[in-house]
Amino acid sequence: MEKWPVGVFASIDAGLGVKLEIAHELGVPTIQLHAPEKSTRTQENADRFLQTLQDYNIRLTAVFGGFEGESYADIPTVMETVGLVPPGPRAERIQEIKEIADFAKMLKCEVVALHLGFVPHDASDPLYQEIVAVTRDVCDHCQQNGQALHLETGQETADALLQFISDVQRDNLFINFDPANMILYGTGEPIEALKKIGKYVRSIHCKDGTWSDKPGETWGAEVPLGEGDVGMENYLRTLGEIGYTGPLTIEREIPEEPTRQKAEIGAAIELLNKLKAKVGCSSSG
Ligand code: MG
Repeated sequence: MEKWPVGVFASIDAGLGVKLEIAHELGVPTIQLHAPEKSTRTQENADRFLQTLQDYNIRLTAVFGGFEGESYADIPTVMETVGLVPPGPRAERIQEIKEIADFAKMLKCEVVALHLGFVPHDASDPLYQEIVAVTRDVCDHCQQNGQALHLETGQETADALLQFISDVQRDNLFINFDPANMILYGTGEPIEALKKIGKYVRSIHCKDGTWSDKPGETWGAEVPLGEGDVGMENYLRTLGEIGYTGPLTIEREIPEEPTRQKAEIGAAIELLNKLKAKVGCSSSG
């Protein structure tokens, strides 16, 4: 398989990704897919979607779970609403992420990914142990489907993630690395983080952002790829160093501006292709 095929984050009827037709028009060979609405996760729709992927010659590399009631309005709201951490909807969401994994299996996709939510940073916190147990449960379900579970980065520092993965003790638990999230959430310099957690990184986002003046309290800003503080050339070089060869999945979360979204993703594809050539993706690297 080609090293570092470009990809985009895509959506059918839920989530912030581009439509599959746009991915096709942009000519990308891979996508990650935000899981569609519960009512549309049927075998019939899966079969139709697989046919479209085949027609477009696009490979599905991950299915991302998301839940009703999640809000990324600001950092405290993320803590209260996102992922499997909030106790209120947790049981229902555990059931739903398993159903999403089963839908991913219908799509012949071996990677399920999600924002787990803000894991407590103190391992002696009872909530921490609860989240470890929840993650084991979801990993074991994915294992039965022949799937891995990838945790989206952002809310945790690299060290906290390493500790958490070690505590979960499941060998199908990996990381979807998003360098911009490290900046947006203020959880650490992304390139340093990538080097630390490199052995667990099995999928990635190409997204850029600028630091908040109050890191960890208020959001940084998401910006077009190459215009933020990640440093895309250094990012690709570091991905090379850690031995990552998988897709470079562009994520640009401005679905309310589809024209701008498509144009910016087009520019991001150009940037990545230029950097791939420069960093030396084609040969031994
Ligand atoms: Mg991301």
